[in-house]
Amino acid sequence: MHFCKKIIIIILYFVLIITDSSVFAEINKKNIVVFATGGTIAGSGKKGSSASYKPAVFPVNELLSSVPEIQKIADVTGKQIVQVGSQAMTSEIWMQLARSVDDAVNNNEVDGIVITHGTDTMEETAYFLNLVINTSKPVVFVGSMRPPTSISADGPLNFYNAVFLAAHKKASGKGVMLLLNNEIHSAREATKANTTQVNAFKSINNGMMGYIIEDDIYFYKQPAKKHTYKSEFSINDISSLPKVDIVYGYSNCGREAVDAFVDNGSKGVVIAGTGNGNIHPAAMQGLVDAEKNGVVVVRSSRCGSGVVINESDNDNKSKFIYSNTLNPQKARVLIMTALTKTNNLEQIQKVFDTY
Ligand code: ASP
Repeated sequence: MHFCKKIIIIILYFVLIITDSSVFAEINKKNIVVFATGGTIAGSGKKGSSASYKPAVFPVNELLSSVPEIQKIADVTGKQIVQVGSQAMTSEIWMQLARSVDDAVNNNEVDGIVITHGTDTMEETAYFLNLVINTSKPVVFVGSMRPPTSISADGPLNFYNAVFLAAHKKASGKGVMLLLNNEIHSAREATKANTTQVNAFKSINNGMMGYIIEDDIYFYKQPAKKHTYKSEFSINDISSLPKVDIVYGYSNCGREAVDAFVDNGSKGVVIAGTGNGNIHPAAMQGLVDAEKNGVVVVRSSRCGSGVVINESDNDNKSKFIYSNTLNPQKARVLIMTALTKTNNLEQIQKVFDTY
């Protein structure tokens, strides 16, 4: 009897240890790799000010140690890829980052990826990775609108939430995501829609995917288009990306910008057209000539929302691609990626309908 009591006490003790959530969490901690590229989240400036600062100052290890709470929710390691403001981003850096992320997601020990990035061009880099990283593991971009040295900096909570999301089983198979201001956005849909506010990111056409609030994830939407593990594109097949440029449409818009881009080697031109991707007749002539010389022309819109649809006047006569809901900067990412596989205009249009 005495012996039985002892056994029961020992069993109860182990049950208690196992069900204690903090111990349980320790046992199940996920391995997250953080790739750092710079931006305001790594910026530094005048104490308290959110306006005067220099982006891309703090290295990744300082970012990690500035939010010690993340080590409670995951085993996190950091790797510095570059240290730039994202206005200085290049397609070479996209490829370097994509290769590092690809290596990491193919490592069985790694469960999820976080990428710190400036907010200015985060949507472009994130969309590129959404196309060329073939994984269902979570890949989460995070940035901040205020530097760590400002009053009420938004970086620490954004960073904590990004790690939390990347380590969460609900986040797998969702494609590349952006996490800022407690909001989860799909890389295809999100765009920076405000110059300074902490709620700068919007998924204007289809809405955001969900929220993170107090260590809980609320998903309401799936990505609408193909991505990551279902993508036909892979960073392993891409050794360089073609030059593609964007021409802005406006009253009196001439053909000079189109001609200059083509003369300088553009393989594709995206027109940020007026309304439903419409083009001034003078610029139109430049684009028709460019297309005849093998340059792929994509009609997008400067409107900021809505679908750019097939328009017999613009597309059928001149064989232009229409961009669906992709804004000009995202249409540029997709045409660069598509051109690594094909120059066939019908196939390229299919890519625009699919991704
Ligand atoms: N200029 C900065 C960047 O994109 C802005 C930011 O990070 O929020 O790197």
